[in-house]
Order: sequence, then C-alpha cells, then structure tokens
Amino acid sequence: MGGTVLLSKHSIGVGDRFAHQGKPQLEACGMAAERGVEVIPVWNKSNREHTIIGSTPAGTRAAADEAVRASGWRKPYYVDADHINLKSVDNFMEACDFFTIDVADRIGQPAEADALRAFVEGHRELLGELPVAGVALPFRIERDFIVLVANKYLAAVEEAGRIYRRIEEKKGKGQFITEVSMDETDLPQTPAELLIILAAVAEEGIPIQTIAPKFSGRFDKGVDYVGDLAKFSEEFSDDVAVTTFAVRQFGMSGNLKLSVHSGSDKFSLYGPMHRILKKFDAGVHLKTAGTTWLEELTGLAEAGGEGLELAKEIYALAYAQREALCAPYASVVNIDPARLPAPAAVEKWSSEQFVSALRHDPKSAAYNSSLRQLLHVGFKMAASMGARYLDLVSGMEITIAKNVTANLFERHIKPLFIGE
Ligand SMILES: [Zn+2]
Repeated sequence: MGGTVLLSKHSIGVGDRFAHQGKPQLEACGMAAERGVEVIPVWNKSNREHTIIGSTPAGTRAAADEAVRASGWRKPYYVDADHINLKSVDNFMEACDFFTIDVADRIGQPAEADALRAFVEGHRELLGELPVAGVALPFRIERDFIVLVANKYLAAVEEAGRIYRRIEEKKGKGQFITEVSMDETDLPQTPAELLIILAAVAEEGIPIQTIAPKFSGRFDKGVDYVGDLAKFSEEFSDDVAVTTFAVRQFGMSGNLKLSVHSGSDKFSLYGPMHRILKKFDAGVHLKTAGTTWLEELTGLAEAGGEGLELAKEIYALAYAQREALCAPYASVVNIDPARLPAPAAVEKWSSEQFVSALRHDPKSAAYNSSLRQLLHVGFKMAASMGARYLDLVSGMEITIAKNVTANLFERHIKPLFIGE
C-alpha cells in the first residue's frame, strides 16, 4: 500500500453510460496535458444509472482500465461511486476508489440534543464577526444560526461518517478519495452554511477532498445554467474562500476543493468559475453526466444511414415514453412538450437536421433544448436495444470518438480549466 491517495487540483468527472468512450474521453484530457494543464479523469456512475442500464461498477472499472491501457495514459484516474448511501455502497466497494457519499435524504432530520449542544459549544470561535479571506464582508454568525444549521445538517454528516467508516474499514485509510454531496436537495446552501457543514464534517473525522454543495439556480441535465449569473459567481467565490478557510481553521485536507455537480453543459458558468479559481489559486472537480451518451447519438446521426435511422428510432421511443423517462429526473429536466417535434417529422430529417437540433450549440437557431433533454434521459431506450445499439456504436466509432473528444475538450475543459 502506498501513501494517501490525493486528488489533483483539476479533475473532471466524466460519465460514460455504455462504457465505450473511455479512450476519446482520455484523449481530451491528453489535449489538456499538451496545453500544460493537468486534468485528471474520474469515471462517475450512480446506482440509478447502473440500475436503468443494467450495468455494474465492475464493468465501469474494466472499461476505465482498458481505456487507460489502450491510450497509454500515465497519470492517475479514478472510478467514482457516485451518490452512494449506506444501502448501495457495498456494490461499489471493489470497483471504486472515489466515493461520493450522498446524505441528502438526511438533511433536515433534527440532530440529537446532546450532539447538537456539544457541536454548538465546540464552535464558539465562529460566533460574532468572522472575517474570511476573499469574502467581501465578514460573516456575522449568531448562536441561533449555528443551532439552525446544525439541526439541519448534523444528522446528515453523522450518516456520512458511518458510510465513510464502512468504506475505510474495507479499503483502508487513505486508499480512496472521499466526497460528500449535498446537491440533490431542495434549497441551495449559503457560504455561511457551508462553513458550518465543513466544521461538522471535520469533527466527524471524514477526510473529504471534495464537497458538492447545491448552488443557486437551475442545473438541468445536459443544458446550460438557468439563473442569476452574478449571484452564482458571488456564491461560488465565497464557497471557494470558505473551503480555503476551513482547511486552516478545522485542519481539513489541504487539497479540499469544491465539486460542481453540473448535470453537464453549464457553459455560461465556466468563464466566471475560471476567473474565480485563478484568483484563489484553487482547484475544482467538475462532474459532468450523461452527455457522452448524447455524443454517441450525435455521432450516429452524423454518420447517416443505419446510424441516423437508429437515432430517429430512439427519439420516437423516447417521445412515446417521455413521462416515464423523466420521472426519475423530475427536478432536473425542464422539457417544453410543445417544442418536441413529432416523430413523423423527425423521420424525414437529414443527418444535419438531427445533429443541429441535438448538438449543444446555444447560438444555433436549430438547437432544441427540449429535444436534447428528452434524449438525455432517453438512454434507457438505447439500453433496451442491447447489442443492436452497441454494435452500431462500435461500427461508427470514428465519427463518435471525434464528437466525444471535441465536446469534452472544446466545450468543457478549455473554457473551465484553460480559460479560453
Ligand atoms: Zn450530484
């Protein structure tokens, strides 16, 4: 066993629903390396995704290892057990070395009285005026506020501790990366709340390297951010400042950074995020989700012939089952049914028409965010086709790979990590 596994400053969570695109994804990280920026890939896949597709964490691990071997990637890479809880963690134990502990369903469960009292008493240093370097105005924290936040999050953090210790027992201390996520909840956390949550995480002894708060605004799947950009920027900046402060104040891991569960393609956030990270000399973990699957679909449509036919068929199936497909993602999809073209109309489309409706180019008049979101959650349709889908994906590998690499490098890595 080596030393403690530490996540690099810049890392990107890449989804790969059908586990065929590891190589072109690595190619995008390789292009960043050529530009002098190290971006470490992490393959994330949640229990929900595995269940819908019928895949296993072992399959994700095998695909990642194989892609790394075939590409000659020499830097670290990880496989993330995304959004696990005490019930699902065991499934991921063998295959994963990055664990995103999700305790959102415990948020709001009142803390036990003694634990609450001890926590509040133990953090009198936070009371009153608290200057945090990089935050414009000092926080003003009162006892009642700590009680309120602790009552909302302490029980959740204790649960995270139970999950962390279970993983540590199986995998060994320092042998994996720990993230705590609180993004799948109703309300965003303010920077002052994040500070108190980090105090609780430190006290619970969870050596997190990344934390995923919920930010203001909508983070719908596969489409751009909807919300107040100035407000997000201020919040993100203050959150970065708070993580830096927490490292010193609570003795947390020196490489603690924010993890942004983006739901993919939050293009308008990348510019402000890049500037803020530069200002603080801070790192970030950007989690993208299923857009690699959409690049597969784009590549199939672009290749024409059978590929285009299959893409149209998947659209028609998804169209017919829209409500069922959207149900597991209800809070993060925002489809306008009136903007969905009828399958009979799509049937007549050329490659170019299909690709330009699907491809996420907000400046293009043909881009259709409702169609894109429907196909985003429509991966179940492709999964149900089994070998028929996967054989065609393999057959059209070159066109697809080009789309996967360009999407990841040009639209994500470049604006966020390189700043172009
Ligand atoms: Zn998430």
